[in-house]
Amino acid sequence: MAVSFKEVTKRFADGTVALDRLDLGFDLGEFIVLLGPSGSGKTTACRLLAGLEQPSSGRIEIEGRDVTNVPPRFRGIGMVFQNYALYSHKTVFENIAYPLRIRKVAAAEIERSVKDMAELLRIAHYLQRKPAQLSGGQAQRVAVARALVWQPAICLMDEPLSNLDALLRLHMRTELNRLHRKLDKTFVFVTHDQEEAMTLATRMAVLKEGRLVQFDEPKTIYRRPANRFVAEFMGRPAMNTIDGVVKGGIFKAGAVACAVDRPDGPVTLGIRPEQIEFMASNAPAAMTLTVDVKEAIEPDTLLIFQNAGGQAITLRTQTNCDAIEPGQPVSVSFPKQALHYFDAATGKRVE
Ligand code: ATP
Repeated sequence: MAVSFKEVTKRFADGTVALDRLDLGFDLGEFIVLLGPSGSGKTTACRLLAGLEQPSSGRIEIEGRDVTNVPPRFRGIGMVFQNYALYSHKTVFENIAYPLRIRKVAAAEIERSVKDMAELLRIAHYLQRKPAQLSGGQAQRVAVARALVWQPAICLMDEPLSNLDALLRLHMRTELNRLHRKLDKTFVFVTHDQEEAMTLATRMAVLKEGRLVQFDEPKTIYRRPANRFVAEFMGRPAMNTIDGVVKGGIFKAGAVACAVDRPDGPVTLGIRPEQIEFMASNAPAAMTLTVDVKEAIEPDTLLIFQNAGGQAITLRTQTNCDAIEPGQPVSVSFPKQALHYFDAATGKRVE
């Protein structure tokens, strides 16, 4: 394992437990994304790995070596933060060169490494500018170049794209993907944006309240969420989760009635909005739901149904919905193979 967190707990002086027995290991060359809502412990995990914080208990290993008490500069980690933290009085060149200068690298080698990195990040034209003369996206690239120029084994990025506008963010996302493939380094990337996580990660760690709730490839986390929290966190719009009761192989909750492979009793049913299907009203599997809200986000349409008990159900489709209006009944079905089941009490996935 390139990096291992072993039973790592971080309790701050005021008693806040930011990380609770985190067990997480990943390999060299992976693009690991730490994903979770605000306050779930992502930044704390990053700071612990970088050595900017000490764990209250547990161990952190990098390539088999216990680094728990090793100072940041000896951990071989490059870092990029949300606010870039560039030196405003230095040129772009000198900003990128800085990690090499403090390592006493020879001038010719610095020249070559900075230029290579600037080419790779497409900022070679700006090497003589000061950070104040750069756009947000350019400044962000300088920060990435500075973190990578000295070839650290691991590059840590804490919400590096959150200050950028939506288009630039998309663009930088693609750049990071390209850079990762090219450099073959281990990237650890913090975000609360699930789309960013899905597109960048080789594996992603989903955190909730300081605990690791699932660690897997993005597609597995999307397709087989370990619990209701992950199911509702991943996907836009979120997976529908409907509390109801199974009797004789039929799940019921308000107007929802569908065949399931579950024993009798309460269960939470999950279905992704894009997997709900339109049906002819006389089809055996059809149920009738009433449209509450229609939202067109071309080329998709979202139909939001209000089910009895106050649970909204969202359908996402590319079928033309021009003829459908709020207040209208629509026949749909929940295909069995698209269903997820979660324990009604604990929220854990049940098969
Ligand atoms: P965000 O997405 O908002 O940055 P995060 O997932 O990165 O959140 P952390 O910054 O790791 O979360 O914080 C985890 C928890 O630890 C939060 O409840 C936070 O308030 C708390 N915390 C962080 N730093 C400290 C500190 N120095 N002292 C006390 N509590 C702290």
